[in-house]
Amino acid sequence: MRAKFWLIAISGISFLVALIIAAQVSSSFQNLFSSSSTSATQIGCQQTITIGKSVAGTEIEACQIAGSSIDSQNALLVIGTIHGNEPDGIRVVDELLKNPAPEGTEIWVIRDGNPDGSELVTRRNANKVDINRNFPIKWLASDPSLRTYSGPSPASEPETVALMNAVQKIKPTRIVVFHQPFDQIDCPPERTTQISDRLSGLTGYRSECIPGEKSGSVTNSYTGTFTIWVNSTFPKTTALTFELGLTTMDEKIKTISKALRTIAPEVP
Ligand SMILES: [Zn+2]
Repeated sequence: MRAKFWLIAISGISFLVALIIAAQVSSSFQNLFSSSSTSATQIGCQQTITIGKSVAGTEIEACQIAGSSIDSQNALLVIGTIHGNEPDGIRVVDELLKNPAPEGTEIWVIRDGNPDGSELVTRRNANKVDINRNFPIKWLASDPSLRTYSGPSPASEPETVALMNAVQKIKPTRIVVFHQPFDQIDCPPERTTQISDRLSGLTGYRSECIPGEKSGSVTNSYTGTFTIWVNSTFPKTTALTFELGLTTMDEKIKTISKALRTIAPEVP
């Protein structure tokens, strides 16, 4: 009788201990899970898509910034660079990635549209083609020795195709692509200067229509550019070039990143 009592008591205690251990393990698992999932949605990319590969085989990715609304119908796409010797726009993208997208907005970034050029610190890609003259719009053959060589045919380069894929998949309403070194915001081809003027007001960079970017201008000298291709192909998308200077102070990079977050929810 006494032995049976102890047997029941010990079994009961063991059961309770097992329950307590199980509860603690479960709770720590839950903590682990919730803390990792919280940090994953706070900053960085909540979704990454591969849009193509460079000539040398490097994957080119587009990232939807954490906290973005899924399919907001008003996405903003920011491209760090497409010329490998113009790296400062990548710093703007990296600054954008330090914060979640403002509530109700959808922001996508492509850090580097020309990774081979960046690796070689050269304007063109590994085939020595200027991606920003290779788009299938008003494409013109040019001399391969030129720094603006347009390639053997329209959209001949994988980086060009990757950026075209990105626009087709993301369907942004606004695209800001960074270049250097002219220190100004160009006006978007085929569109009003509204977004350029707004960004100019927020950043202090002057908004100026350079003749070559104003498609249809009698002095138009630019052919096969990304912004002309986008704006001629997608009526609901406005793409513009933001020209940083030769060098850009960190404070300016922060100001530009903040300005992009400010315009993200605005109606184009
Ligand atoms: Zn450029």
